[in-house]
Amino acid sequence: MKRELQMQLVEAYPSFFREYGGDWRLTRMADGCAHGNGWFGIVKRLCEAIREECDTDPDARENFRFEQIKQKAGLLRIYHAGGNARIAALIQEAEQESAWVCEDCGATEALVPRPAQGWVPTLCPRCFETRQSRWKRREDEARS
Ligand SMILES: [Zn+2]
Repeated sequence: MKRELQMQLVEAYPSFFREYGGDWRLTRMADGCAHGNGWFGIVKRLCEAIREECDTDPDARENFRFEQIKQKAGLLRIYHAGGNARIAALIQEAEQESAWVCEDCGATEALVPRPAQGWVPTLCPRCFETRQSRWKRREDEARS
C-alpha cells in the first residue's frame, strides 16, 4: 500500500502499528501493509473497531499490535499479538470482507470470479486487466 495511506494508519493508531518502520530482520511490519490500496478502507474500519474494543479492555489497549498485514492467495491476511477474542473475531471478519473488495481500487461490484480451484487476485475487471498487461510487459521484457 502506498506510503501516504500507511502513514494515515500509523498516525491514527500508533500503538497498533508500533512495529512499522522497524528492522525488517525482526518484524514483518517494517514496510507496513503489503497489499494494494483498495483494502485501505477495510483496514481503517478494522482499526477503528479495535480501538473501540480497546476502550473497554485495558489489557488489550496495552498489548495489541499488528505483526503482519498482507495479501495471501488473493485475500487479506492479518497476524497480530495481544488483544482478545473479540478483536480476533473482528480481524477474521475483515479478512473475509476482502474477498468482496477489489485489492487495487476498492470497488465492490462485478469482481473477477474466484475459481473453484487455485486462486486469482481479488480485483475488478479493470484492475485485473491493468495487472495482466503489467505482467505481460514484464514477460516481454524478460524475453527480449
Ligand atoms: Zn479495481
